[in-house]
Amino acid sequence: MTAVTPQPAGPVVEVRGLRKSYESELAPVRALRGVDMIVQPGEFVAMMGPSGCGKSTLLNLVAGLDTPTDGEILVAGESLNGKDEDQLARMRRRHIGMVFQFFNLLEGMSALENVTLPAVIAGTPRRQAETRARDLLDLLGLADKASSTPGVLSGGQRQRLAIARALANQPTLLLADEPTGALDSAGGEEVLELFRRLHGGGQTILLVTHDQPVAAAASRIVHMRDGRIDGATEPATTAATAAPTMTRSLAAG
Ligand code: ADP
Repeated sequence: MTAVTPQPAGPVVEVRGLRKSYESELAPVRALRGVDMIVQPGEFVAMMGPSGCGKSTLLNLVAGLDTPTDGEILVAGESLNGKDEDQLARMRRRHIGMVFQFFNLLEGMSALENVTLPAVIAGTPRRQAETRARDLLDLLGLADKASSTPGVLSGGQRQRLAIARALANQPTLLLADEPTGALDSAGGEEVLELFRRLHGGGQTILLVTHDQPVAAAASRIVHMRDGRIDGATEPATTAATAAPTMTRSLAAG
């Protein structure tokens, strides 16, 4: 079974002494109060914790969408400290695929175009980007929806499309913030099955979830509380390793 994308020899993510405060009219909000975390290649890590404990803040910092107040983040061995907006955008294109709770799809474009576009923006020739987009739609069970716009798809299909788009540039790391949070149970199960398959194929995944079955599919659950990591547990089930793996490689083609 070939990995989705070549993985670095060392950790995919290293977070050291991470702090993030937001200014507010009263006192600053200390969203992260000293977080250390390592995600190894091929791991599927689920972050859980009460609303407001800093999960999304941590995810956004790892994606380089915001900068920390203190501490350091390394993605695929490269420090994000001191990088400007352009350099962070380049890092994201190379290493990060992001999935959001509310899909963030381009509603006026076809499913195929939604998945093709990120690779074209990253400099892949259009024909090659489109071929890979078709492969991804096929692999994610959406081949017959290539010319549909997102609006006609079910919630589960929309999120699968958003995951296909996140995989367009073969990211080292797939990040997801509450990917099943806006789905009904059938849609949630579709998306969960997809994460299992991606993990089985070697994709490194870091996601935030309140959804117990999603966390149970992870190889590790990181618990957060009040801006700190409160401990880690192994999920009770081995669903992730028992899940069927992808039969086709997503490696560059
Ligand atoms: P979670 O994802 O665990 O629900 P967040 O990371 O969204 O938590 O938020 C952590 C804390 O930081 C909360 O108190 C939240 O209100 C605050 N916060 C998050 N983003 C901002 C922002 N842009 N400006 C001010 N405060 C923020």
